[in-house]
Amino acid sequence: MGLTYKRTNVYATADKAELDAIMAYNEGYKKFLDAGKTERETVANTIKLVEAAGFKPYVLGAKISKGDKLYYNNRGKSLFIIRAGTADLETNGVRVLVAHVDSPRLDLKQVPLFEKASMAYLKTHYYGGIKKYQWLTIPLSLHGVVAKKDGTLVSVNVGEDEADPVFYITDLLPHLSQEIDVKPVKDAFSAENLNLLVGGIPVGDAADSDRVKRGVLEILHKKYGICEEDFLSAELEAVPALKAHDVGFDRAYVASYGHDDRVCAYPEITATLQTETEQTVLTVLADKEEIGSEGNTGMQCILIRDILRSIAVSYGADPAVVRAHSKCLSADVTAGFDPAFPSAFEELNAAYVHHGVAMDKFTGSRGKSGSNDASAEYIGYLRGVFDKEGVIWQPSELGKVDVGGGGTVAKFIANQNIDTVDMGVPVLSMHAPYELVSKADVYSAHKAFSAFVK
Ligand code: MN
Ligand code: MN
Repeated sequence: MGLTYKRTNVYATADKAELDAIMAYNEGYKKFLDAGKTERETVANTIKLVEAAGFKPYVLGAKISKGDKLYYNNRGKSLFIIRAGTADLETNGVRVLVAHVDSPRLDLKQVPLFEKASMAYLKTHYYGGIKKYQWLTIPLSLHGVVAKKDGTLVSVNVGEDEADPVFYITDLLPHLSQEIDVKPVKDAFSAENLNLLVGGIPVGDAADSDRVKRGVLEILHKKYGICEEDFLSAELEAVPALKAHDVGFDRAYVASYGHDDRVCAYPEITATLQTETEQTVLTVLADKEEIGSEGNTGMQCILIRDILRSIAVSYGADPAVVRAHSKCLSADVTAGFDPAFPSAFEELNAAYVHHGVAMDKFTGSRGKSGSNDASAEYIGYLRGVFDKEGVIWQPSELGKVDVGGGGTVAKFIANQNIDTVDMGVPVLSMHAPYELVSKADVYSAHKAFSAFVK
């Protein structure tokens, strides 16, 4: 350790073999991004990955034996991956990794379909924090499920296949937008105008009304066997119809929809599946983080406590003692310093792309409000772990103290009496339809999470 502290650039210090490893790892990450764009799809895709690695479904409350590899699918929207280790649970606790797999998007309303000026639209209600204008004039796909009264679940995925149509939200031409252009951005765009264009060909004859809407309903009925009323019990999400791509002549970056937070979920999964360890590992893919971790698929739900209890009881250990000795990395993205917007960042404490996975001791806003402020002792412990395994990481804070802030799931795990700190990949254009990360940082997250569970 030198007398002074300085961040390390992963690319600048990587040899040829390390650079090859970074590039190869991100090929897997891009496949993971394209295979699951929603929380449901990511859970389903992850189940395929863990089943291929020998993991079996867990029945809540069943006994867990040392060496078991299990997963618990919570309502198709969140996932708990359990690696039951051989180390003593009361002294070692459980290594807990948590990332979320929901991302900002446009959900369909429950009565979404209408026709205006010979065009058919679906009304949306945005989910998570978005800049509304970013969702205009880009190709959008529709993902999700329709639950019918008879209990059948119809899966929908339109707009990802090259042969599929996409959906679209219009914007006003610059020639006519003088009135809008002078408004503050927050007032210039209305959520009620985020309507997906979904049809234009009328059916029936001149005596009928809403003929374009009817045409769309006929197609939906033919393809999915659903009627307009079935939207009442549907969860359909519009997301960008864009695949993950390398960015830059040197391919240093990956751009994709929904890096937040699949860019932490993927390294969690690879660390959990690939690391040789005696520790018991619980890896969680959570839902609902973007709206406050509410509900029975979010991290405020007591399910994590129930699963930790099942593990402890199976080992003949006291659940309270196991929790007290458990440790957690709450893996969520942070803001990368953006030279285009330097005034939002405090340069000493910002996260910088290429400088490794970032640790936020605290998140929150104003006076650390709503934050889990991790202890110096826990961070000291982690510094030792990462040093030992040669992990390049950096400290970070979301932005300047007075400019805003944000929260993560960390506090909900810490509330279980578990040492927890936020750690994740720096993202540029976070919450935009197409976000950017450095491949070096994605691989650094994999190395950090692997060191943590070792
Ligand atoms: Mn996040
Ligand atoms: Mn987010």
